[in-house]
Amino acid sequence: MEKTSHVMLVGEGARQFAIAQQLETVETIAAHPHQSARGKRRLASPRDPAGNHDTIALLVLHANGDIAGGCSTSGLGKKLPGRVGDSPIIGGGLYVDNEVGAAGATGLGENIMRYCGSFMVVEYMRQGMSPEEACRETVRRITRGERSGTALNINFVALDKYGRYGAAGSGKEFPFSVTTQTSSRVIRATASEKRG
Ligand code: ASP
Repeated sequence: MEKTSHVMLVGEGARQFAIAQQLETVETIAAHPHQSARGKRRLASPRDPAGNHDTIALLVLHANGDIAGGCSTSGLGKKLPGRVGDSPIIGGGLYVDNEVGAAGATGLGENIMRYCGSFMVVEYMRQGMSPEEACRETVRRITRGERSGTALNINFVALDKYGRYGAAGSGKEFPFSVTTQTSSRVIRATASEKRG
């Protein structure tokens, strides 16, 4: 987005662009245990259990009030070649609105991107919800849209312009880290806990 006017490049075109930019080439299959030769024989099930992924969504509030966010993932283990998950999709795995706040997601990308999950969290904050309420409402909304009894495996974390933060997920617990100038700690968002 700094070197071209485009927002996203994928596949062979992205590879060629990376080479032209002289980025380093690395062997990703060897680097990711989820994609071992054995594992690759079996295709991903959309209901694969948690632990099959490792996304990091990072939301930052600068002292001057600006909000920034980033999202990094290896994607879903044993995915089909060519699969695009939620993490690189603006509004799916990450969304930042400097007037309102930011949200990021981890879990089963198919269940996040079909609902523009992170965008939804930010829009709920715009309507006045706290970050935690917004995450919870998004999980509820996606839950309503899916067949009951299926494992959703979705988690959201959010931060607003006032520095309030929160998270919620479809499981019993979703740990997330909060770092300020003076401390760093892991908080476990649970189904019943309120914060923000
Ligand atoms: N959300 C990612 C994906 O579906 C996986 C993850 O959260 O680790 O690609």
